[in-house]
Amino acid sequence: LILVVVDSMSLQLQKKDAVIKLHLDASQPLIYADELHLSNVIYNLIDNANKYSVNAPQITLSTKNAGRNLVIEIADEGIGMTKEQTKRVFDQFYRVPTGNLHDVKGFGLGLNYVQDIIDQMNGVIKVHSEKDKGTVFEIILPLNHN
Ligand code: ATP
Ligand code: MG
Repeated sequence: LILVVVDSMSLQLQKKDAVIKLHLDASQPLIYADELHLSNVIYNLIDNANKYSVNAPQITLSTKNAGRNLVIEIADEGIGMTKEQTKRVFDQFYRVPTGNLHDVKGFGLGLNYVQDIIDQMNGVIKVHSEKDKGTVFEIILPLNHN
């Protein structure tokens, strides 16, 4: 699913000379998920990593099997955010004001949707960010166990 999403974004990533590195867990742990919504979640996070990086975005997407969970991490080396801004990113319509300086368009809805979907999958999403350094979104999803 991740490969399909990344492939579908190749044009927009190329436009900004983005480099995306994938580190996918070789064991390919299985989760039960709505394919469309999980694809949209991955899409939104890669789209943000690409949009909120000024030159040649460096994006790393990794997955790892961690006990009873699948952990998906999307990291960038972009514009980052302050602590106060980071606290609000999942709020509906919230956009960091500096986003507009770079003429980056958006509605402030992507991450609100992402959080809603992850909640519905009984997962957790966390964000770590540092201004002018970059941002990491971490998703923890329960694995299927028979
Ligand atoms: P859209 O609804 O099209 O996704 P958006 O990208 O503005 O619009 P969100 O994806 O919800 O909305 O993100 C909210 C805000 O959080 C963004 O406007 C941006 O200021 C900040 N943000 C999100 N991801 C990142 C990131 N990877 N690096 C820096 N800032 C980010
Ligand atoms: Mg967005």
